[in-house]
Amino acid sequence: MIDNYLREINYLRVSVTDRCNLRCIYCMPAGGIEKVLPRDDILRNEELARIIAAASSQAGIRKIRLTGGEPLVRKGLVDLVAAINDIAGIDDIALTTNGVLLSAMGRDLKEAGLQRVNISLDTLDPDLFRHLTRNGDLRQVWRGIETALELGFSPVKINTVVMRGYNDHEIGQLAALTVKYPLHVRFIELMPVGTSNNWAGDRHVPVSQIKDIIELGLGGLESAHRPAGNGPARYYRLAGAPGTIGFISPVSDHFCKTCNRLRLTAEGMIRPCLYSGWEIDIKGLLRRGASETELGDVFRQAVRRKPDRHCINEGWQDDKRIMSQIGG
Ligand code: SAM
Ligand code: SF4
Repeated sequence: MIDNYLREINYLRVSVTDRCNLRCIYCMPAGGIEKVLPRDDILRNEELARIIAAASSQAGIRKIRLTGGEPLVRKGLVDLVAAINDIAGIDDIALTTNGVLLSAMGRDLKEAGLQRVNISLDTLDPDLFRHLTRNGDLRQVWRGIETALELGFSPVKINTVVMRGYNDHEIGQLAALTVKYPLHVRFIELMPVGTSNNWAGDRHVPVSQIKDIIELGLGGLESAHRPAGNGPARYYRLAGAPGTIGFISPVSDHFCKTCNRLRLTAEGMIRPCLYSGWEIDIKGLLRRGASETELGDVFRQAVRRKPDRHCINEGWQDDKRIMSQIGG
């Protein structure tokens, strides 16, 4: 569907849970979220499949990304992927994960129809990893990355959030992964969202600086084709590298002009923009027996309400949700 600003909206990011097995400092409070959603409030697999089918047939959604919270902690995720894979019109199913459970689940997910994975990794230092994720084990994530490569997911992207004073000294090392492996490492500016709202500004490193650090340490970057995907990154390559380096700059240089996405929260709210608190309930309608056309109306309304750009520099205005509850 084309929105009011002539953008084609064809991508739905689906948060399948608000729960997580890590507690990243920029995403979750140390003790986890105060009240996780009761199971009954979370959309069930059949409900998600109906919503996605309506999104596809009624509103032209073609691409799905499963996220969370941590999507791999949701029971029945493999069945959900298989169900989405059966929906006519959906031609791309991707996953964003912290990677902890990926070595165990990767094969089943691939067989069910998952095509692509993004794995979050902010450091290669096991102690810093434990600190940043509040007790995560880097070895599990690395096994997940190896599994993704072995299984032939393509592309395998790494999401790295850069924070001054925490992991900015590792930018070169993380970028150098693309020389050794066919990985696509994307450096993301820390956003002031929920938990990180009060301190993100102090830790912010603009993409322009990240790029300079890489070029100074590892040599010039040449422009590269975008690996398959729908994201807002700009891609480059180090000489002779099989992988690429991407930059995502939501804060210093917003990419709203090319935004093609809607979000669906785990409790069934459609959110047209990460940074705008406006949401519309689709679960209630579905549970009251709505038809596919009626579900499609909700998507059409959400597309019409997509703002032309976000207001990230005015701070996080949404006191209802943190990142893991929206679906990053
Ligand atoms: N649990 C999965 C994971 O960590 O990949 C999926 C959900 S997580 C919310 C999705 C992505 O959002 C991760 O790559 C994470 O690093 C990123 N993220 C979370 N909070 C962020 C923030 N304040 N600024 C920038 N990126 C953030
Ligand atoms: Fe969990 Fe992902 Fe948030 Fe980290 S970024 S706490 S892994 S949802």
